[in-house]
Parts: sequence; structure tokens; C-alpha cells
Amino acid sequence: MDKNIPYKTYLEESEMPKQWYNVRADMKNKPAPLLNPKTKKPMTAEELGVVFCDELVKQELNDTDPYIDIPQEIQDFYKMYRPSPLVRAYCLEKALGTPAKIYYKFEGNNTSGSHKLNSAIAQAYYAKKQGLKGVTTETGAGQWGTALSMACAYFGLDCKVFMVKVSYEQKPFRREVMRTYGASVTPSPSETTNVGKKILAEHPGTTGSLGCAISEAVEVAVGTEGYRYVLGSVLNQVLLHQSVIGLESKIAFEKLGVKPDIIIGCAGGGSNLGGLISPFMGEKLRGEADYRFIAVEPSSCPSLTRGKYAYDYCDTGMVCPLSKMYTLGSGFIPSANHAGGLRYHGMSSTLSQLYDDKLMEAVSVEQTSVFEAAQKFARIEGILPAPESSHAIRVAIDEALKCKETGEEKTILFGLTGTGYFDMVAYQKFNDGLMTDYIPTDEDLAKGFAGLPEV
Ligand SMILES: *Cc1c(COP(=O)(O)O)cnc(C)c1O
Repeated sequence: MDKNIPYKTYLEESEMPKQWYNVRADMKNKPAPLLNPKTKKPMTAEELGVVFCDELVKQELNDTDPYIDIPQEIQDFYKMYRPSPLVRAYCLEKALGTPAKIYYKFEGNNTSGSHKLNSAIAQAYYAKKQGLKGVTTETGAGQWGTALSMACAYFGLDCKVFMVKVSYEQKPFRREVMRTYGASVTPSPSETTNVGKKILAEHPGTTGSLGCAISEAVEVAVGTEGYRYVLGSVLNQVLLHQSVIGLESKIAFEKLGVKPDIIIGCAGGGSNLGGLISPFMGEKLRGEADYRFIAVEPSSCPSLTRGKYAYDYCDTGMVCPLSKMYTLGSGFIPSANHAGGLRYHGMSSTLSQLYDDKLMEAVSVEQTSVFEAAQKFARIEGILPAPESSHAIRVAIDEALKCKETGEEKTILFGLTGTGYFDMVAYQKFNDGLMTDYIPTDEDLAKGFAGLPEV
């Protein structure tokens, strides 16, 4: 053990961030604007205001202010479950026999079991402040729906969640957590929306997808007085709120007098990774420091490593704005894969631009090797990780093993986004030796690319 480095580093409440950091302000090449799907012109604040809360629209369009104040009410809520610990993985280092120093930032210490509460509370706050009655959203694996239900309960807002049907059926306990917090949960696609009926007519028996649940949630928000739609990842505003993860990490490292060399995160829509790396990326963009950033995605849904950088629909029903991102096409349906939170076809436009500018790397990993890493981590470090988070664990271990070969004492930071208590069906498959890997062929991917819109 290093004398000066404890297992866990927490911040004092007085040291917690009072502002979020907006990495777009320091980017030379800004992420491309959202486009109106009909006119193909950049979405105006008025147009976005039909779907999203006004203050969140401002944050979405803000490419200039590097720091945005965190309202006091949100800071107070954060204090109930933050700061999250920065943990030195001494036991893992020892088990691997690596000279690398491994740290992780653990975001699983709240009932939603993930980092998603960081943005849910912000989005619910702005909805309440605008005098809205409620919000609608989609959820895949269920973490976002849970986080939003908690946030809405806190502010007394109604919360309507469209849950991808396969998860609704496979994860009944997630659904009950949401209902306990007062949310209504509808399996998607449903008969309660026009777009749901249309999708059901075209694909009878479908078990749903995130893109489809988004379309239903947007339809209900736009068609119901006093409601807006909120999204748990992908958008600029979500990365902004999640910057609290990176800001806390940076303050903790500064307290320890340590600088990470490699920063690793799993990437679904990009919110935890974007939030974790933002303040460090800012230093890199301003030429003050250098870091390696690695996005980790599943081989079954490889938007960065095999996708195209193009404008695409964010949802199946094509009601949302077009976003320029690394994408597999909104019609791409990933094969059954147990990291529900990493199954989205596209990627945050901010991370897409940073990746295209070669400021960030990306790798894809297969789920059996991810679960091997998850099991190892659970046995050695004690925490039962979410399958999504375990993608980052996999690559952190791989990088630490490279250090073992070269003898380099690199400092590695990875985001441990959540716990896996609701993912025991996946662990069961792995434990029974029944988990398989499916890597889409080029032909599979070509079908998704064929549906990309002309812009
Ligand atoms: C949702 C989720 C992710 C992936 O979402 P991002 O927006 O890419 O961060 C990762 N880990 C956990 C535990 C999640 O719930």
C-alpha cells in the first residue's frame, strides 16, 4: 500500500462541485447541431421547447459557457448520496501482479444503482421549476427509469415511464422499484400511443427497443398538457450534469497529488464516460495536460468502433431531432446482450466529435470476457458490478496487464457506474456456462446503415 493513498478518498461537503463543466466550451470543433427531421435545419430553442424543459434546452444549445451553476436544491440533493468515493483498487492490483495503480470512481451507492441519478435530479428540478405537472421517458434496463422515478418523487412530479417490453418482463423487480417511487410503467411498444400501435402492427410480437420506447414517450409528452420528455443519456445536457463525476474525481486526485494517465469508461449513449472525462478532456483541449481516454462498448453494439459518423434518427418512430453521431442506424437491433444500458444504436454527439478528432480512443469487447472481468472484480474487490460497468473493468484489467509486461507504473482510472443486483439472470447464464458472444457481420451492419437519412 502507498503510504499516502487511502483505499477510499471522499471529498468534504464543502469541496463538492458547485458548477458543472461544459466541455463543449473548450472544443475547437463543436458537436454538430441537432436538426429538425422534416426541414433538416438546426433545431431552434422554440422547437426544442415543445419536447424538452426550457432551461434544459438552453443547456443543450450552450456551446460557450465552460461552467454552469448547479442550483442549490440540486447541490443539496447530491449531498444525500454524494460525493461518491474514489477507490484505490489495491486488492485488484495485487491479484493481477501489476505495477499499474488502479482507481475507480464508484457511482453505485444510491437506490437507482447507477450514475443516472446525477442527471435525473437535475432534469426533474428544471421541470418542477417550469411549473410542469410531469415528465415522460423511456427505460431499457431500468436504471434510468428508477433514477427518474426517485427524482420525480422528491419534487412531487408525475412520471410516466415506457419500459422496453423485454426488460419489463425480465426485470419485474425494477418495475416495482419505479412504482414504489410513484411512477407509472408501461411496457413498450404499447397500444397507448399511435407510434406504438404502428410498430406493433408492423412487427407483431416484438419485444421492443429503446428507440421505440423513446418515440412513445415523446408522443405522450408532446400530446399532454404540462408534460415534457426527458432523456437519460446521449444529449449534451446529460453529459453536462454527469460532469459532477469527473469534477469530483479531479478534486480527489488533486488532494492525493496524483494524476491519472489513462481514463476508461463504458459507453452506451456516452453520459457517464462524457461526465467522467470532461474536466480532464478540458485540460487536454486547453493544452494543460495529456491523458489517454478509452471508450469501451460491446462488440454486439459497436457504434464507435464500427459505426458511421453521420446524421441519424435518435428513435425508431423518427419523431426526435436528427443528431450527428457515430451510429449503427436507428433500425439496427443488437443481438441479445446482457448490458441493456449499452444497446443504443448511436453515441453522444460530443463524444462522437471528440472521437472523430482523435482525442479519445474506443475499443469493443465481447460479453463473455466482460463477465469474466465482472466475476473477478466481484471476488477481489467485493462489489458486484453492473454488466455495463464491467466493460470498463475489462479494459482497465487489460491495460493493467499490459503494464505488467512493460513494467510501466501507469495510473489508471475507470468509471464503475453501478451495481448488478438486478442483472442476476445474466450472471446466471454466465455461471452456467451458457453465455455466448455474437458479433454482427458487415452485412448485419449494412442493413442499419441503409436506413440512414440523406442530409
Ligand atoms: C445506463 C448505464 C450505462 C450506460 O449509459 P451511458 O449514458 O453511456 O453512461 C452504464 N452503466 C450503468 C450502470 C448504466 O445504468
